[in-house]
Amino acid sequence: LLILGIESSCDETGVALVRSTGADVPTLLAHALHSQIDMHQAYGGVVPELASRDHIRRVLPLTQAVMAESGHTLAEVDVVAYTRGPGLAGALLVGAGVACALGAALGKPVLGVHHLEGHLLSPFLSADPPEFPFVALLVSGGHTQLMRVDGVGRYEILGETIDDAAGEAFDKSAKLMGLSYPGGPALSRLAEQGDPLAFKLPRPLLHSGNLDFSFAGLKTAVMTQAKKLGDDLEARKADLAASTQAAIVDVLVKKSLTALRETGLQRIVVAGGVGANRLLREQLNAACAKQRVRVHYPELHLCTDNGAMIAMAAAMRLQSGQQQARCDYAFDVKPRWPLDALEAQQAPR
Ligand code: ATP
Ligand code: MG
Ligand code: FE
Repeated sequence: LLILGIESSCDETGVALVRSTGADVPTLLAHALHSQIDMHQAYGGVVPELASRDHIRRVLPLTQAVMAESGHTLAEVDVVAYTRGPGLAGALLVGAGVACALGAALGKPVLGVHHLEGHLLSPFLSADPPEFPFVALLVSGGHTQLMRVDGVGRYEILGETIDDAAGEAFDKSAKLMGLSYPGGPALSRLAEQGDPLAFKLPRPLLHSGNLDFSFAGLKTAVMTQAKKLGDDLEARKADLAASTQAAIVDVLVKKSLTALRETGLQRIVVAGGVGANRLLREQLNAACAKQRVRVHYPELHLCTDNGAMIAMAAAMRLQSGQQQARCDYAFDVKPRWPLDALEAQQAPR
């Protein structure tokens, strides 16, 4: 099966072609991505209407580029997958509309994919794919969750953030320090030159006894510290960035270890944009090596949003016989869609 995947939930337009043979892990044949970061940077964040319009401009040229790179033609595509949610409604509608139009024109079925399931399964695109079951640490711009994953569609949320996501904590703290959007990469780059012990910042819910997270208080502490520094902020920015990153990573690593201990599992998968963070990878690798736990990450360029993970999730769903693609081309999107509301067995409507 050749599966075309289209991602348009936020500020990245991604298209990819994956081949599923049935038994093995599906393989990525080609993918293309356009990030709108430059466009939104002037506003300090994503402007939904601009995002939708840009997806419209990009999605077909990217699709053509992917087909050309793969050496296949659209007529050979067996299933068209798209991100059904969660995300920005207008942005989602572009991918859904194009996927269904393509499906109808080609006479091929379509499949709506859960964006977070895409992130979650993205490590299967790496050279060292994981095996079920595993603990998953999903750390993206909008979500922070620890999960027990027993198979495709079998997700149990063990804990999640009660306010901001980890990526949001990076982004908002970076903004307070005057760094460019998106703040995660900028803040972690600056942190390389700073002292992580320079400022004492809170590790919210570290000892809460459960697997939930909270990052809103940390952001407030960073703001208070920045204000206190006043004119000295510029000179101490790298130290503040390093201390902020250390606090976020510390909580993520410790809670991940607790999840591993509580589930008794020997494998953890990290997914989502924050999974690209170097300190997180270093500390998690070190901690897991001690416990003989295996850690899997998506490839660096597939941590943030992309079409490959959407095509991959669709392929794995179809391959595990859990879901059939639909031929009625009546699309809908789900801007809000909790991952554990996703059923293992999804019947076509
Ligand atoms: P969601 O998937 O929850 O809907 P999203 O799609 O916006 O949200 P992703 O694309 O997975 O999220 O990730 C983007 C987030 O990752 C941003 O918050 C960004 O700052 C963060 N991020 C990216 N690279 C890094 C890094 N190296 N260090 C820390 N954070 C990073
Ligand atoms: Mg993004
Ligand atoms: Fe995402």
